[in-house]
Amino acid sequence: MKTYENFIGGRWQTSKSGQSREIRDPGNGELIAKVQESNRDDVLAAVDAARQAFDSGPWRKTSALDRGKFLFKVGDAIRADAARLARLEVQNCGKPLAEAEFDIADAANCFEFFGGLATKIHGETMQVPANSLSFVVREPIGVCGQIIPWNYPLLMAAWKLAPALAAGNVCILKPSEMTPLTALELAEIFRKIELPAGVVNIVTGPGAGVGEEIAANPRIDKVAFTGGTVTGRKIMVGAAANVKKISLELGGKNPNIVFADADLEAAVDGALFGAFANQGEVCSAGSRLLVEKSIHKPLVEGMLRKVPNIKLGHGLQPKVKMGPLISSTHRDKVEGYIKLGQQEGAKLVCGGKRPDAADLKNGFFVEPTIFDDVKPTMRIAREEIFGPVLTVTTFDSEAEAIKIANDTEYGLAAGIWTRNVQRAARVAQEIRAGIVWVNTYHPTFNELPWGGYKQSGIGRELGLYGIEEYLETKQVNINLDEAPIGWY
Ligand code: NDP
Repeated sequence: MKTYENFIGGRWQTSKSGQSREIRDPGNGELIAKVQESNRDDVLAAVDAARQAFDSGPWRKTSALDRGKFLFKVGDAIRADAARLARLEVQNCGKPLAEAEFDIADAANCFEFFGGLATKIHGETMQVPANSLSFVVREPIGVCGQIIPWNYPLLMAAWKLAPALAAGNVCILKPSEMTPLTALELAEIFRKIELPAGVVNIVTGPGAGVGEEIAANPRIDKVAFTGGTVTGRKIMVGAAANVKKISLELGGKNPNIVFADADLEAAVDGALFGAFANQGEVCSAGSRLLVEKSIHKPLVEGMLRKVPNIKLGHGLQPKVKMGPLISSTHRDKVEGYIKLGQQEGAKLVCGGKRPDAADLKNGFFVEPTIFDDVKPTMRIAREEIFGPVLTVTTFDSEAEAIKIANDTEYGLAAGIWTRNVQRAARVAQEIRAGIVWVNTYHPTFNELPWGGYKQSGIGRELGLYGIEEYLETKQVNINLDEAPIGWY
């Protein structure tokens, strides 16, 4: 069993706390690794290393072309080790192997996408009403703190690090204390490709302490966060200390709307995949299914016919389609919502309990759960459950569907199922969310912006928009008149 250290200033280092944390497989409880249980002092060491790398190290002088080449090397190295990384991801966060394989490949794509973008950062020249040469240049922000969650450990590390590095920043990344292993393997890749010391620092430890210090430290110029909305608010408060730039990708309670003219079979698949991929532990999960009344019965029956195909089990077992939840605490939270749904009067039509199989009793499993007859006012239809729980609500008209869909404090994603192209375009326009999928659910591309309206966040990741979040904008105004200003 491996004990990992922090990666600070290009070297592996034990925590100043002297403490370590056991990392256990959520599918069977087995001990798989130990990591450093760091504290604020480790963050301060990472800040020193990162500031040195940015303020006087070689990274700011590294050409965009060479920054891009580093990122391509990271992509290659991830691909070369993909099979091992995918298995480690499964053991650390529980998802089925096929999903982990997809995440690892996409993490490699992400580094390559931003590797290519490094050389496309450009400014502008402006005609101004004076005899001057005026232009705009784009520059890195500086030291970026990055705090990521447990549901997509390596992919979220890639989404944060790749654009930041392409833009010429240096980074201090804190993975979730529960799922730090693949991010630490990524650190080893940075070491092997000889990324200059201090350009990427990875510190493991709890949000209380490590995360708080990253958010508040005045020598960190920006903080980027993915996680729950409550934590996001705390990060904003911490970041206010030095008016840090922030980008936040927070929660969602995303509507997946099925109209009567949809392809029913496709909508059934889309509803289940939207709700149950990654055990429903997805910010963009289609956890609120809104169904036109006339097809409510066949749609629910279609889902109930297919739910038995969602094989529950350890993610490394063949044919498993749903793994365990991340922790017993999180399972308690999800089970609390299932109980609440019953108390609120929603109709439990499948799942709602732990599986009976003896080989699953040491993992944090919950069966795929569907509540029918859910009123939009119920808490299970309003609060983010972040587990395999789908609520079904009916509507009579397009206007009512839009009203229910938008009646939420969140605005991350939405799905629309219809064969009517005008309706698809109309409803997509009316939805107050950053991502709208039509006749599909969940496809995510490095090329497209990712992020939310309302309390689902601030800023966008991925695409050309993603690199913007890591760039400052400077105007340079060169006076071409040689005469003095002549004002006094
Ligand atoms: P959090 O939002 O608390 O955790 C995300 C990251 O933030 C982790 O690295 C965590 O550290 C860190 N963190 C926690 N508190 C602080 C703090 N005060 N300052 C700085 N960093 C902090 O998610 P949870 O794991 O607690 O899950 C809570 C809920 O959030 C879930 O039930 C779900 O609803 C939502 N969530 C949303 C995600 C998304 O993708 N949008 C992802 C994960 C959760 P630590 O290592 O201690 O966990």
